[in-house]
Amino acid sequence: MTGSLVVVGTGPGNPEQMTPEAAAAIAAAEDFFGYFPYLDRLSLRHDQRRHASDNREELARAREALAMAAAGGKVCVVSGGDPGVFAMAAAVCEAIEAGPAEWRSIDLSIVPGVTAMLAVAARAGAPLGHDFCAISLSTNLKPWNVIEKRIVAAAKAGFVMAFYNPISKARPHQLGEAFDLLRHHLPPSVPVIFGRAAGRPDEMIRTVTLTDAAPEMADMATCIIVGTSDTRVIERGGKEPLVYSPRSYRGGSA
Ligand code: SAH
Repeated sequence: MTGSLVVVGTGPGNPEQMTPEAAAAIAAAEDFFGYFPYLDRLSLRHDQRRHASDNREELARAREALAMAAAGGKVCVVSGGDPGVFAMAAAVCEAIEAGPAEWRSIDLSIVPGVTAMLAVAARAGAPLGHDFCAISLSTNLKPWNVIEKRIVAAAKAGFVMAFYNPISKARPHQLGEAFDLLRHHLPPSVPVIFGRAAGRPDEMIRTVTLTDAAPEMADMATCIIVGTSDTRVIERGGKEPLVYSPRSYRGGSA
């Protein structure tokens, strides 16, 4: 008997930013796999079982979830934000590709969610209003020199950048190196948005210039959006400024 596997994105943190489709998928599942803080955010019923794990164990978690679904379980793998953005959906696909043939016939669905950069961007204005890219600064799965190359290429091409996984205890210096690199390729006035815990009670959104951007302004719950020289800041006396990237190219970068 083959069961089902649903990979769900719960959004950035507050229940209002979880889609009704995600809430329905969670209500219908019986076994839940995920990084424990993500599982903690769900209000599961007594008949729903938690299988929490640490955040570095994605592939093992995906395999466990697939094995349970193959045995007939109604399984849900949970990610914060969107499950396809630096999260579990790709881990599940990798496990299926390398796994036993029977995993390919599991009833699989992937339910999208509001990813961190969208939640942060909405708080700041419209910094992703023109072409943009997302880069994870984590060196768990790729070397730092590749990250540096992508940052420089994106800056030269005039993309707004959203940095995920910007800093951790294991690599406290790299975010500062990333800002130094950007200062060689972008004007000092480029706005940099630090969006921490968007959508949660401890949310903090702060915009500074590239000159003033410092690694201490970020932690692992922060998504950083780096504008281009086209990105505008509208001061609003007393209120947070509005930051936006105009829809049309103004020739400021690339
Ligand atoms: N799948 C998630 C991203 C997982 S990677 C998503 O789509 O949002 C984890 C990184 O996401 C964190 O280091 C941080 O950079 C970012 N992040 C997740 N939730 C966030 C939030 N509520 N506010 C700001 N950044 C967040």
